[in-house]
Amino acid sequence: MPQVKAYAAAASDADLKEISIERRDLHDNDVKIDILYCGVCHSDIHAKLNDWGNAKYPIVPGHEIIGKVTQIGSNVSKYNLGDLVGVGCMVDSCQTCSACEEDMEMWCENGSTSTYNSKDKFLGGHTLGGYSTAIVVREEFVLSIPQNLDIKAVAPLLCAGITTYSPLKHWKVKKGDKVGIVGLGGLGHMGIKFAAAMGAETVMITTSEEKAKDAKRLGANSVIISKDSEQMKAHANSFDFILNTIPVGHDVNPYLALLKRDTTMCLVGAIEPLENIHGANLILRRKNLAGSLIGGIKETQEMLDFCGKHDIVSDVEMINMQEINTAFARVQGSDVKYRFVIDMESLKN
Ligand code: NAP
Ligand code: ZN
Repeated sequence: MPQVKAYAAAASDADLKEISIERRDLHDNDVKIDILYCGVCHSDIHAKLNDWGNAKYPIVPGHEIIGKVTQIGSNVSKYNLGDLVGVGCMVDSCQTCSACEEDMEMWCENGSTSTYNSKDKFLGGHTLGGYSTAIVVREEFVLSIPQNLDIKAVAPLLCAGITTYSPLKHWKVKKGDKVGIVGLGGLGHMGIKFAAAMGAETVMITTSEEKAKDAKRLGANSVIISKDSEQMKAHANSFDFILNTIPVGHDVNPYLALLKRDTTMCLVGAIEPLENIHGANLILRRKNLAGSLIGGIKETQEMLDFCGKHDIVSDVEMINMQEINTAFARVQGSDVKYRFVIDMESLKN
């Protein structure tokens, strides 16, 4: 079984450090990918810290993977050696349940396999993610990368991109809609770019005065500082859709108050208990509070093609693998503009 280098944490309170891991020998429909770049998602940090109570150690995070195909199984038809490809948050699902048949593998009735921290059907143990030099993935979960984009900055599209694109499409954001994006981090900055590209009047809702200028450069028409209750009040009952990327449980009431009658706020960040919701904020104008999880493989490819067409990539800060522990601390302090991407060459030498 081939061994490859990876970065792993042995426990929730341990730093990540180099280890050697196994990747499986190829099955007929597998693609082996030499990893060039991997984005650093806030979920990698939640997972390592066991915030969701399901961590398995050693944990090798990483689900925003860009690389080159180095080997293919005998039945692989979509990819050839040398192709530039991507892998996101999932590497397998049953492919036959109603969710998979409707291209929503993330809600596979039999449980989709996450890129890391899921049961590994082939090797036993658990799956190990993209903070490594190579990965083996069945071809149905491998994505094609548009040729015209800077591939370093494409990596974050595999999670931050699809997680923001999918709800904007699902709730049919269109030209002229007033759309709020809450939280200017990895997900939020992609949310602004997509909402603006879809023609919406895009409003950044942030805790940070300092990021306001950047929000406009990224495509926001205006900015609301969420800590300023006067600014929030001035926008009451005016939004057609709000995408909320705040990574922790919080008080959603001030954001619900911004929605118009019959519209929706979708949560993607807080996968944990929320503070009490005041029913009046939903009942009085028939408002909806919803959630969304990444997106299916077909929609992920659609999102990548949309990015190719509209020249959309992530704003990235490149790091070496050895800098990952500092990068985690900076993400936790909301100090990243707007996604760290690991140059995996640093782990190969
Ligand atoms: P990130 O880069 O850390 O960005 C989060 C942003 O939220 C911060 O930059 C900050 O923006 C704001 N924020 C942070 N703490 C806050 C608080 N206590 N109150 C108000 N605002 C706060 O994180 P990310 O990578 O974008 O991920 C965001 C969340 O989405 C994470 O929890 C991640 O696990 C989750 N996620 C979910 C999915 C899914 O499928 N649903 C997929 C990927 C990630 P400002 O400085 O502008 O206020
Ligand atoms: Zn992610």
